[in-house]
This record gives sequence, structure tokens and C-alpha cells, in this order.
Amino acid sequence: YEIRFKSQIGTIELHELTQAVNHMAESLERQERLRKRMTTDVAHELRTPLANVSSHLEAILEGVWKPTPERLQGCYDEIQRISRLVSDLEGLSQAEKEYVTLEKEPVELLTLAYTVRDSFEQELASKSLSCSMTGETCTVYADAKRIRQIMDNLLSNAIKYSYEGGEIHISVHDFGESGVLEVEDDGIGISQEEIPLIFERFYRTDKSRSRKTGGTGVGLTIVKALVQAHGGKVTVESETEKGSRFTVVLPKGEDDE
Ligand code: ADP
Repeated sequence: YEIRFKSQIGTIELHELTQAVNHMAESLERQERLRKRMTTDVAHELRTPLANVSSHLEAILEGVWKPTPERLQGCYDEIQRISRLVSDLEGLSQAEKEYVTLEKEPVELLTLAYTVRDSFEQELASKSLSCSMTGETCTVYADAKRIRQIMDNLLSNAIKYSYEGGEIHISVHDFGESGVLEVEDDGIGISQEEIPLIFERFYRTDKSRSRKTGGTGVGLTIVKALVQAHGGKVTVESETEKGSRFTVVLPKGEDDE
């Protein structure tokens, strides 16, 4: 009996071990696939601005083109685009770490939203945009820096994709178990077909590409990763030419630490 008992334990352990190894192998494979896709995506995103800068500079160096301020500005803009992409990628790799270490503390969403709005004062003024706020105070247990980044990215998009003189509205609500943040604009909107794609890395809608807003298509990927790291959810409702509303639901999470 003793021998059988022992061998049974042995079988169970072996079975669990096999499962754990398989699970680890699957997770490694998935990470490897993601890493490969990321490398291809980054190479693709860098190729265009780099090709533009080098062909413009080549033409100038060979005397084919005069170095007019417009052409130099064009090169400068492309270099700015490359730097934005690199810093967005740093943000993305932080946000997409398998285990993001959140430094949780009580965060009052309405106060934070006011701070974020004030930090965008210049951008709002430069497009004559108004940005109203409503709602109630709501404290969630979260990583303040990351929540700020979520708000920064959503407001910066609302500004980028609004028309001159448009209206942006931010609201914060306390839903008991969770806090809800909404950022709404009356800008260019997103078509129904493209809504499921905008959270993908480097995805930019046709409409926004043609507007030269200088986006890199990484901001919403970061938002989604950070919201998910907090156990929350981000959704969007939008209509072309009418505007967009992004909603972030964050569990209050007081009890999880
Ligand atoms: P980007 O740097 O291009 O703004 P994001 O990842 O933040 O990248 O957004 C992805 C795409 O989703 C944008 O390029 C734009 O096409 C679309 N988008 C995001 N926010 C809005 C918005 N408020 N209104 C309209 N389109 C938006």
C-alpha cells in the first residue's frame, strides 16, 4: 500500500509539473511572438521618417536642393517624430511589462483631472478649445503617476482630434465599487470599423493620418495596458464628424493590498 501510495503522489506531482512546464512554454512562446511582432512594427514605423530625412539631406548635400528653411523644417519635423516614437516606446514597454509594479495610494480622480486639464492650458488655448469639468470627488486606490498618464493621453488625443473652437468635457463619477472617468470631444470621431483597432499598437485612423497631428499610434495602447494593470476597463463610443467619448472604469481596489 505504501508503495502504491507513494507512486500515486509521484504521478500527481509529475502531472502538475508537466502542466506547469507546458504553461511556462506557452507563455514564453507568446512573449517571443509579441517581441518579434514589436520589432517588425518598430522597424516599419522608423523606416518612413528616416528615409525622408536621409533623402532630403542627400539632396541638399549633393546640391540638388537649396537648404531652404521649409526643407530644414521638414527634416526637423521628421526627427521630432522619431524622438516622439522612441519616448512613446519607452512608455509602452513600461506599461506592457507582464507584471507592472503599481505603487498604489489613494488617488482622488477629480482633483487629478483638474491638474491634468490645467497642464494642457496652452494646447487648449492654441486651438481655442474649451474644456469643462463635472462630477464628484472619487478616491480610488491606484498608482497616481499611471492614472495621470491615462488622463494625459486621453486629453491629449481629445485636443489633437478636435477642430478649432471645439468643446471637450471631462467628468468623474463615483460608482461605489469603482470610479469612472470620461473624456468627451466633438472632434473628428472614429468610424465604427476602426473603433476596435485604435487600441492596437501603431494603429492610426485614416482620418487622423491625413491631419498631420504628429501622433505615433501608441498612446491608447499605453492607456489600455495601464487600465488593465489596475483591473479596470477602457471603452469608446464615437461617430465620425460628431466626436468621441472615452470611458475608463477603475475598481476602487481598497481591499486588495
Ligand atoms: P496617436 O499618437 O496617433 O494619437 P493613439 O494610440 O493615442 O495614437 O490613438 C490611436 C488612434 O486613434 C489615433 O491615431 C486616432 O486615429 C484615433 N483616436 C484616438 N483618440 C481619438 C479621439 N479623441 N478622436 C478621434 N480619433 C481618436
